[in-house]
Amino acid sequence: MSAIGIDLGTTNSCVAVYRNERIEIIANDQGSRVTPSWVSFTDTERLIGAAAKEEASMNHENTLFHIKRLIGRKFNDPSVQNDMKRWSFKVVNVGGQPKIQVTFKEETKLFRPEQISAMILTELKEAAEAYMGTQITEVVITVPAYFNDAQRTATKDAGRIAGLNVLRMINEPTAAAIAYGLEVKLEKKRNVLIFDLGGGTFDVTVVTIENQIFDVKATGGDTHLGGGDFDNRLLEHFIEEFNTKHKVDITKNSRAVSRLKVACEPAKMKLSVSTNAKVQVDGLYNGLDFKSNITRAKFEELNSDFFDKTISVVEKVLADAKMKKDVIDDIVLAGGSTRIPKIRSLLKDFFGGKEISRTINPDEAVAYGAAVLAENIRTGKDNTQERFRLQDVIPFSIGTDVRGTDMSVIIPKNTKIPTKQMNVFSTASDNQTAVLFGVFEGENPKVKDNHQLGSFLLTGISPKPAGEAPILSVFAIDSSGVLQVIALDLASGNTKDITITNDDRRLAEKEINDMIAAAEKMKVGDNTAKEKDSAINKLEELVYKVNQLVESDSATISPRERRGLLAKSKEVFDFAKSNENADIGVIRKKTSELETYFNKVREYSEYLKSPEGILTILADDNKTGYIPAIDFS
Ligand code: AMP
Repeated sequence: MSAIGIDLGTTNSCVAVYRNERIEIIANDQGSRVTPSWVSFTDTERLIGAAAKEEASMNHENTLFHIKRLIGRKFNDPSVQNDMKRWSFKVVNVGGQPKIQVTFKEETKLFRPEQISAMILTELKEAAEAYMGTQITEVVITVPAYFNDAQRTATKDAGRIAGLNVLRMINEPTAAAIAYGLEVKLEKKRNVLIFDLGGGTFDVTVVTIENQIFDVKATGGDTHLGGGDFDNRLLEHFIEEFNTKHKVDITKNSRAVSRLKVACEPAKMKLSVSTNAKVQVDGLYNGLDFKSNITRAKFEELNSDFFDKTISVVEKVLADAKMKKDVIDDIVLAGGSTRIPKIRSLLKDFFGGKEISRTINPDEAVAYGAAVLAENIRTGKDNTQERFRLQDVIPFSIGTDVRGTDMSVIIPKNTKIPTKQMNVFSTASDNQTAVLFGVFEGENPKVKDNHQLGSFLLTGISPKPAGEAPILSVFAIDSSGVLQVIALDLASGNTKDITITNDDRRLAEKEINDMIAAAEKMKVGDNTAKEKDSAINKLEELVYKVNQLVESDSATISPRERRGLLAKSKEVFDFAKSNENADIGVIRKKTSELETYFNKVREYSEYLKSPEGILTILADDNKTGYIPAIDFS
């Protein structure tokens, strides 16, 4: 059985597999090697990928995108609040968690971000299954290097909801480094800098590659910086231009904003190859058309702070890796936004004019690397990449507030994973039997400025004078960057272990199982809708053939058969079209009856055109040109 690699992107996703001794990027059912990470719900069906994206301007409230920006975050997270202002779909607060509200088949539905991501994963899994001709359950999914623990766990849950066994999650830039290292077949030790700027996230990683050992030195980035932000800057610019010109305010009209936004992305992409781009949206607002022009220089000016930020991150990561910029041998790009010329020139200038590698495809490198790792894990020891080994790092420091309000770091950032760190702490007052401590990630000296992962209540500690009840905490981070914390009361010998349970962002086991069942049910619904579509399609084709036959063979088909055939085909067609809830079985049965009737008439008509048939006509006393000898009804 094969294992696949999935790049689950903010904007686009991509799936790859190892086959015939090489990595193959799998095209989806529309023949495209990348699939937009979009899901749309309509009155009749659920759409995923390009079909969903095409729905955006018509059905903007139920068309979802950028869900990766929600995953593993709380509703009140400032970044969620900020994104919500620009989204045309509704996000609601359910017990502190963001849920996406849509109308599907005329019913209101709420989904966790994990469920929407699972739908995209399922689409990619199915593309891979169709390609390989076998069922696939094992996968390596990539995540931004800067994803925190909650975001990683939520991504893993999405995999489970999609019916996948997530072998490992791997950082996107590390996956790109693997693709680069294997594709270029490096001879000697190289220090490689991966610059990965996608639709919604930005990562920089420095990796030393030697003998196919990928040793990540440092990683950094921003989980909220990418092409979507550049589109938004364009959008804001055009909104202002339109509002000023026509003295209106279109911001309250979400459909108009959504239509204008859809036009921004292609304009931005055009500016990567041309110095000018036109944007036009007919009847944007109150019957007014939008028509404008934007230069590459203006686009660069609008986004200059974002672009500069990418270079500051590069500087920081180099400092963390304790490397000067001149020891970097190769600069590798990943992510669609690295096609922006200004980004490339800033990077090139920063590295003193050094050429940027163009060996790997920035859209596919991440999935490529993930597939290599998937194959590696699946086979235990891969024959083709025997020496391949990966040493990744954690992006944030992990610590506790055991000593009050200060962050007490247990695992410093850029520590190699998997890792396990032990720490002994003690009670602060006499006869204290319980300890509550929080676990945080981040680099700030005060815990309040860091991101809290969870809090732990350790009870049943043996009563002892202050400082004499030693408690051992073990912080373990697995190869996917997911944290587990265990605390042991050493004095009593009680081995109390606690894992992060009170982090309400996490889905409980039961919730995941319910979501798996719901996903299955929805898939059955999708299949039924697809089957119905195909039944109606078949019927439409048949009706077309009936009309053609009646026209082309009018000489050999009697008026009675013609009328009968047309009436029957109209009856079946009207039934299928006017009965939204018509059973597929009934449509199929009626289509099959019509087909039998049609075939009989056609065969008879063919017979009448044959020499034998012509003789029969000639022998006919009535000389009608056709003989209605069979009762077709
Ligand atoms: P990714 O997340 O790697 O799939 O990257 C998707 C992002 O890359 C989206 O924001 C796209 O608009 C952006 N992108 C793709 N092609 C180009 C291009 N030629 N110029 C600028 N941005 C692009």
